[in-house]
Amino acid sequence: MDDKKKVEKSEEEWKKILTPEQYRVLRKKGTETPWSGEYVDTKEKGVYKCAACGAEIFSSETKFDAHCGWPSFYAPIDKDKVELKLDTSLFMERTEVLCAKCGGHLGHVFDDGPQPTGERFCINSASLDFEKEKADREKEKRE
Ligand code: FE
Repeated sequence: MDDKKKVEKSEEEWKKILTPEQYRVLRKKGTETPWSGEYVDTKEKGVYKCAACGAEIFSSETKFDAHCGWPSFYAPIDKDKVELKLDTSLFMERTEVLCAKCGGHLGHVFDDGPQPTGERFCINSASLDFEKEKADREKEKRE
């Protein structure tokens, strides 16, 4: 698969492949209720992919406890994986984080994160699909 190729689908097509909550967040720029998401407390090793197009966006290596109710990362796997856009909705100036491959809304990035980047990518669980690393999957089977 060509990694640089963008994914484009009509809203009808997205509706068919996403759950209603994924569609609301990814395509309508919704925000899930804090602490409600599947990956807030996930600690296992693995990779977080865009739930819409499967692009690998975040690694568990950069996930940290931000105590804000959403999965938080201090960096994407690669800068090219995300697109940043000024968002002035809700009478605030925030930086929106989008999947570079499909344009899906992932969350926002703030400048109060930990080192080495000082950034906090505050991401909706609904926008992500977590793929556990093989070693962690096998450990789980044994337990
Ligand atoms: Fe995507």
